[in-house]
Amino acid sequence: MADDAGELRDTGDLDSEALARRRLALSQIRQYPDPALRMRANEVEQFDESLRQLAERMTALMIDAYGVGLAATQVGVLQRLFVFQAEDDEPRVLVNPRIVQQSDEVEMEEEGCLSLQRVLVPVERSVQVTIEAQDLDGDDVRLQLDELPARVAQHELDHLDGVLIVDRTTDDARREAMATLRAQLSLA
Ligand code: ZN
Repeated sequence: MADDAGELRDTGDLDSEALARRRLALSQIRQYPDPALRMRANEVEQFDESLRQLAERMTALMIDAYGVGLAATQVGVLQRLFVFQAEDDEPRVLVNPRIVQQSDEVEMEEEGCLSLQRVLVPVERSVQVTIEAQDLDGDDVRLQLDELPARVAQHELDHLDGVLIVDRTTDDARREAMATLRAQLSLA
């Protein structure tokens, strides 16, 4: 787990089949500069079968892409939900999440994003957050998260507001990240 960064898991030990599955999953995740990544998602009001199917699809994509989190805006759906996997726990779905408390203590760490490939930038996040949300049945949930899961949740919440890691990093890191992204675009 040492090389996990923000939304990404370390992919150093993947075999070629897993890498192929990862590429396929990434091709179904919106990539910068897709405009959906800049939009604010709407509150979920209907807790129905299609919401459940969306959450299942997002969870499968997150796992195949070797991510630890994925927000609906990253699959082009403007609804406020994200999936995440804290350490080796079961993947979880949070609907209409909001931070109700966050620690003053912050930490600066390298963060990556499934929508910004080959970019790692330092991002400052609260070490601890308390989140209130709903589950897929519309029931209230309250979670207290620390360290990496807290970082992932803050990253995913940003996605639901159209905010990306390049908005939250240093000027130097942003310049470098933009150069990396531009180089990828001109190759594509
Ligand atoms: Zn991301």
